[in-house]
Amino acid sequence: MLHFLQQLTVLYVEDENHIREGYSKVLKRHFKEVFCASDGLEGLEMYKQYLPDIVITDIRMPNKNGIEMAKDILNITPKQIIVFTTAHSESEYTMQALEMQVSGYMLKPVDKNKLVEKLNNLAENLLANRENIKHQKAIQSILNTQSNILILTDLEDIEFASKSFFDLFNVTNKEEFSQKFKRFIDIFSPCDDCCCIKSKNDFIKSYKDNAECQKIVSISYDGHVKKYQIKIDTVMTESEELYVVSLWDVTSLHEEKLNAEFRADYDELTKVYTRVKFNDIYEIEFLRAQRYQREFSLAILDIDHFKSINDQFGHLIGDEVLQKFAKYCLDNLRSTDLFFRWGGEEFVLILSETSQEQASLVCEKLRRGLTELEFPFGIILSISIGLSSIRENDSKNGLFERADKALFKAKQSGRNQVVVSEKTRYAN
Ligand code: GH3
Ligand code: MG
Ligand code: MG
Repeated sequence: MLHFLQQLTVLYVEDENHIREGYSKVLKRHFKEVFCASDGLEGLEMYKQYLPDIVITDIRMPNKNGIEMAKDILNITPKQIIVFTTAHSESEYTMQALEMQVSGYMLKPVDKNKLVEKLNNLAENLLANRENIKHQKAIQSILNTQSNILILTDLEDIEFASKSFFDLFNVTNKEEFSQKFKRFIDIFSPCDDCCCIKSKNDFIKSYKDNAECQKIVSISYDGHVKKYQIKIDTVMTESEELYVVSLWDVTSLHEEKLNAEFRADYDELTKVYTRVKFNDIYEIEFLRAQRYQREFSLAILDIDHFKSINDQFGHLIGDEVLQKFAKYCLDNLRSTDLFFRWGGEEFVLILSETSQEQASLVCEKLRRGLTELEFPFGIILSISIGLSSIRENDSKNGLFERADKALFKAKQSGRNQVVVSEKTRYAN
């Protein structure tokens, strides 16, 4: 099968006329086009002009020898196919020729059939490489047209990646990328919504089939942190399993979502949990306590005569007092206690795993401590607290209502006190 040569051009450089004429005839039978030159200088000029696919050259020649010409050509086209033809008498050049690691060396007199066979093999490889490069370019341009970032990888090395991926790390190709990261999965950094990725298996388990994982990954590079939604598809090649990893930049969406969640969860003024958050949490905590027969208490706190603070010092001072009060409560509660702004100057406290006795001590401590807290303009703040604890066959509404009634009682009985639902009462 010699048809590979028919698609290619060749430059043949030989100073001896009869040899050049003889071989060029053979070459012309097989190649699409043959260019002939009689020394290295002419050869180089013709090379620059025609950029042939293959160069066959003698070594010892006037003006510029074959080795010098080959060096110049390799400077122009580093992967140029070059075949030297050398004679025994040119042994002083042989080592230099070998060191250049060109595509072939043939000893003169060269057997014409062998030469053609050798050239045909080289041509086959060259065409296969060209085809390969064409496919790679096609794949690359398909990847580059996608709006998301795409990577074909075994999760360690990168086979292909879209330009947008390389841009992310300020590199231009996978070779440069591999100098910055040992493995593909090393690009991901830990984040709150991300699954922990330490190994390939972790990665596949977390992001391929796991619905629990939010399919969000974080990539931080050069001081920028970005969030991506991730999708992984498996592709089987002849020899291995590869993955198509798709990444969609959701950084701004994610930030918006976090901000919205934060706004829903935390009160803007006091930075404690909101009533919305209370509604999310209370039922779950109540049911858990009920199912496992755990202690559970709930307190409603209401600042006494708060209206008069506003009236006397203005709303801004009122706000400041609310902020300071909320901070005081947070600072004096355990991390397991949950503290919410119910609205205005009313707050709710969920005390899980806390009996009525323990809870009333907590509330009493808060109440007492508050009278010693300093506020602007010498304001002295006091609170009334209604407290109730879970009992058998209780309901979440029942528990809340009892605390509310206890608070009402505390207000009616002179304020600045903790009233425990239907049981104990702490006086000032
Ligand atoms: P009581 O001892 O009976 O609880 O009296 P109170 O004045 O504390 O209760 P009331 O419910 O009559 O008044 C609550 C006041 O809290 C009225 C309202 O303007 C004020 N308030 C509610 N939310 C805020 C806020 O965010 N900032 C400020 N500065 N005031 C607020
Ligand atoms: Mg009040
Ligand atoms: Mg009130």
